[in-house]
Amino acid sequence: MRYRTHPKTGDKISEIGMGSAYLYEAEHDEAVHALRTAYEGGINYFDLAAGDGAAFTLWGEALSDVRKSLLYQIHFGADYSKGTYGWSLNLETVKRSVDWQLKELKTDYIDYGFIHCQDEKKDWETYQKNGVYQYLLALKEQGIVRHIGLSSHTPSVIHKILDAVPVDMLMFSINPAYDYGHGEFANGGVSERAEVYTRCQKEKVGITVMKPFSGGQLLDAAQSPFKKVLTPYQCIRYALDKPGVMAVLPGAQSVEEVKTLLAYEDHPEETTDYSVIASFAPIEATGKCVYCNHCKPCPVGIDIGLVNKYYDLAKAGDGMAKDHYQKLEKNAADCIRCGHCDRRCPFDVLQSERMREIAKYMRG
Ligand code: SF4
Ligand code: SF4
Repeated sequence: MRYRTHPKTGDKISEIGMGSAYLYEAEHDEAVHALRTAYEGGINYFDLAAGDGAAFTLWGEALSDVRKSLLYQIHFGADYSKGTYGWSLNLETVKRSVDWQLKELKTDYIDYGFIHCQDEKKDWETYQKNGVYQYLLALKEQGIVRHIGLSSHTPSVIHKILDAVPVDMLMFSINPAYDYGHGEFANGGVSERAEVYTRCQKEKVGITVMKPFSGGQLLDAAQSPFKKVLTPYQCIRYALDKPGVMAVLPGAQSVEEVKTLLAYEDHPEETTDYSVIASFAPIEATGKCVYCNHCKPCPVGIDIGLVNKYYDLAKAGDGMAKDHYQKLEKNAADCIRCGHCDRRCPFDVLQSERMREIAKYMRG
């Protein structure tokens, strides 16, 4: 398992994490075994916005003995008093729900306490007016919550909350369908969504990724808005390549599905290449580097995707990006303008030109 270090909290997070939406649907023993398989495979990060309260009991049973090695996202606003998931902005309901979740998980602390599911600006106003945010902060002061998170599907609401309060982790829905304007949560345009990623990286807000397969639609040609199948590994790598991303959090319903997720770590880069999405890209995405590295190999060994990522981050005001760029063994100044990447890039990026632009910017 590869781990990514959170730039602000220092937590070492497995790049493959797990959501909890569906596991409770499995047979009890299978579900417990699946969680142990995830832990033994190196997964240490779990989101607990579960579809049903039964998930908390399962997690408590399967993983309480190794709790200290794990990181949990708990949502202040997810209510299980009726058994299945419900959304609440009522302070007393949230308090009861958080107490109950901790008891079932057999833990007394929360790694990332989340401002839960803020998709409309008025949700955030109500969240504060009702005292839910203040309650989350009070638990942080008491040391019960270690860090603050935010979950949302809406870039404009994310920016509003990031402007207002400190956040350590954002859970956001990232996949090619949403980024290219297709699907239930395709909120914001191509550029607006990209700004969320660069802002988070710049401000040291980690991102954990929900819905990496667009609810399974991208894995089924009949349901996919692109009418073509992507593999889970293409979707996972797509999300992991975005600036700021710490981990993807797909769901799993069986030991086999967990093993499939873990196998991502052993897959060679060629089999996770997602550049086919260029054929679905809307016009506003043309000519924009998505850091996919499909244009490799560069004859002088430039990591083209990474150089472009640092360039975009530096332009967005990330002070560290220039430093990281300068430390690369090869950078844009080494480009010999052979044109190989221009011919290979399915997104029509004129990369040899861009390398010249990057070298000039980074020198300045
Ligand atoms: S230039 Fe094109 S192929 Fe190369 S990393 Fe960027 S988007 Fe991918
Ligand atoms: S044009 Fe430059 S960046 Fe592109 S493959 Fe050739 S040397 Fe590498």
